[in-house]
Amino acid sequence: MRSVSVGVIGTGWIGQDHIRRITERVVGARVVAVADIDPERAKQVASDVEARALPTGQDVIDAPEVDAVVVTSWGPTHAEYVLAAIAAGKHVFCEKPLATTAEDCLRIVEAEQVHGRRLVQVGFMRRYDAGYRQLKQVIDAGDIGTPLMMHCAHRNPTVPEGYHSAMAAQDTAIHEIDTVRWLLDDEIVSAQVLTPRSTSNKFEHLTDPQFMLFEMAGGARIDLEVFVNCQYGYDIRCETVGETGAVSLPDPAQVWLRDAGQVRTGVYQDWKDRFAEAFDVELAEWVRAVRDDALTGPSAWDGYAASVISDATVESLRTGGVVNTQLKDRPEFYGG
Ligand code: NAP
Repeated sequence: MRSVSVGVIGTGWIGQDHIRRITERVVGARVVAVADIDPERAKQVASDVEARALPTGQDVIDAPEVDAVVVTSWGPTHAEYVLAAIAAGKHVFCEKPLATTAEDCLRIVEAEQVHGRRLVQVGFMRRYDAGYRQLKQVIDAGDIGTPLMMHCAHRNPTVPEGYHSAMAAQDTAIHEIDTVRWLLDDEIVSAQVLTPRSTSNKFEHLTDPQFMLFEMAGGARIDLEVFVNCQYGYDIRCETVGETGAVSLPDPAQVWLRDAGQVRTGVYQDWKDRFAEAFDVELAEWVRAVRDDALTGPSAWDGYAASVISDATVESLRTGGVVNTQLKDRPEFYGG
């Protein structure tokens, strides 16, 4: 079986985590080259896995020994690297966001179609989480009838001071935006943000929590609470209600402790632990798909759609009104 030689651009937090994953957990792949804007960081990370540290991301893409590229640099650099990987005819896994503007996402969509086959996958890892996959199986099997509503929550204990109100959509809700489209196999057609009384446990500049409402083309309605200073833990919820039943995302398996007249269990404190297994599965499946030249994961189109809907959500936060979302016609290339 051919091993996939991977080049990684951006060796910050998630870049290092994905390098460790590919090196230690993914069968049939190894990291052979890395680059970072900070060359010392790149050298250190490269030496840990016996890869080459190259001066720039473009050098990683151009390196003949690199079969496929992972982009984990800062969001505003994603479009440039993804377009360069397509131009080089190499598969590219890009962490979210695919690009920071819908226009740049469309440039990627167009370049990939010109290339003629799928090369791009976006890092929406919830599609690889065991609980979300069970949820999708139940919905797809028709076990709850036609889905009518979804109630979702995305809570973080705290966020750093640099986090601003638009990031609730751009950085946080973008995961639910993708998940909801995937679970219901339907498109979001409008977004609205309502703002309850803000928590006192927040920075002055931040609107938190935010209550987001989405409408699907088929008429289902979604509510999503984004609360990034909830204090108590990282808590992800999703319940889908259909015509004949309801199905909820299970809490990840953790032990239950019975003592002192109580039953207790833990709540994860961050997304790194909550979705660790989903990240493992995501990269393992990506490597297999690259080897078979048959990508099936979240596409450049999904990255584009998420970007348009996240922009509409930010717009509604500003205006308070309902913002209709208008996607281009989905090309056949992406199953349109
Ligand atoms: P990070 O720790 O800041 O890492 C980004 C790295 O890229 C840093 O080392 C940064 O260097 C470097 N970099 C910046 N510009 C570059 C360039 N032009 N070429 C090469 N390297 C460059 O951020 P992170 O938390 O790892 O996040 C990286 C990306 O992953 C973001 O897009 C983020 O949204 C995404 N992400 C996704 C998830 C998920 O749940 N799927 C989770 C976390 C992060 P400096 O620090 O010197 O700028």
